[in-house]
Amino acid sequence: MDTWIRGGLLITPKGSYRAEIGIQNGRIARIETAQRESAGQVVDAEGKWILPGIVDVHTHMELPVKGAVSADDFASGTRAAACGGVTTIIDFSLHRPGGSPIDCFRKRRRAADGRVAVDYGLHAEIVDPTDEVLGEIPSLVEEGVTSVKLYLAYGRDGRMVDDGQLYAVLRQCAEAGALVMVHAENGSLADALTDELIRTGRTDPTAHPDSRPNIVEQEAVQRAVAIARLAGGALYIVHMTTREALEVLREAHRRRDPVWAETCPQYLLLDESVYAREDGLQYIATPPLRSPDDQQALWNGLAGGHLSVISTDHCPFTAEQKKRGGDRFDRVPSGLPGVETSLTLIHSRGVGGGHLDPNRMVAAMSANPAGIFGLYPQKGCLREGSDADLVIFDPDKEFVISADDLHMNTDFSPYEGVSGRGAVIMTMLRGKVIVREGQYCGSAGDGIYLTRKSFDVQACLAEVPV
Ligand SMILES: [Zn+2]
Repeated sequence: MDTWIRGGLLITPKGSYRAEIGIQNGRIARIETAQRESAGQVVDAEGKWILPGIVDVHTHMELPVKGAVSADDFASGTRAAACGGVTTIIDFSLHRPGGSPIDCFRKRRRAADGRVAVDYGLHAEIVDPTDEVLGEIPSLVEEGVTSVKLYLAYGRDGRMVDDGQLYAVLRQCAEAGALVMVHAENGSLADALTDELIRTGRTDPTAHPDSRPNIVEQEAVQRAVAIARLAGGALYIVHMTTREALEVLREAHRRRDPVWAETCPQYLLLDESVYAREDGLQYIATPPLRSPDDQQALWNGLAGGHLSVISTDHCPFTAEQKKRGGDRFDRVPSGLPGVETSLTLIHSRGVGGGHLDPNRMVAAMSANPAGIFGLYPQKGCLREGSDADLVIFDPDKEFVISADDLHMNTDFSPYEGVSGRGAVIMTMLRGKVIVREGQYCGSAGDGIYLTRKSFDVQACLAEVPV
């Protein structure tokens, strides 16, 4: 063995147990419950947890939004990810009307390759599903891009697809072995409500949630689920935020529809009251933060397995960038930083708060995202033969969040001053230590592009509760 990790408690979706992990050539070669002879380097994990590296399937590095570009590029964002115990991200290729998705994919790879600190994959964003664009989906799948992202909102930015286009993409993806992801908000309703608020002088951040109330999400989720049924396609709903949408998801699961959904730490941990604060505009994200009642529903959705994934929708801006919209909530670049703080916060508030057990946490943050997005069992699990992507985690170490200590390229944290327990002590990427004693020690280009497997609807359906 190159390395043995001794004394740790392995946390898996099915349970937790003490074992030693032997690593060779970047893979988990042995998992032993009895102590063996120790050739090679020994890492002492006594009293610590060993988690599979976190798989964050929703990040936006260097993304242009409303005249700004998200503040983390692939280098800084993936360094921060590593510090937070994330060993795989899936970001998005950027599509514009008239563009070729394959060209967009290649361009995005050029931006990331050689710079990423952790492994990465790409979803293909599609904003303009012409016949020509649809014809490229099988080639995307061959390149390992086995998921396509559509927006049911943002019509004014040229990104919204209509129902017929959603149907056509679902049909094509079902045939090609790709999963369709949707940003499910009714975009024309959100635009109409925004206009109405602006007309009546409601321009401040407290108007943001009123411009996209729960029904805007619920309606879009319901419509997308119905269209997916008609198309015989599978659907993944990004950043679900409301009790009402979750009820639609539960109904879909009762029918055994192939529909999965994620939520994000900000929707679990922050509520809409922050929009009334002096720095309220810093919290503008889309969908907006919701009520404490919605938060409780989301925790229940995770505990019950209806929400399969916690991702971050990491899309940071600096305080200065957030102010560029002036006094108009609808002109603020929308998004929050999150890739570095998701594990510690979900552990602290979710596990510590009694909402989730540690096993459900690793299911939602490692195993399920890896499974749904074609990376399992290479990623997302502690198994012989899997990549040695591991986090040594101290569940008792206290933390207080301060933007000054974080590696994300922004000068504020939505969780400034929040305290809790749980810290990443070591992150290992394919056997290489990239974070030691909480300090980043890897180098740019440690991460590689991941060619993901085709979407496997039956394997993923087996994990959905009824
Ligand atoms: Zn997003």
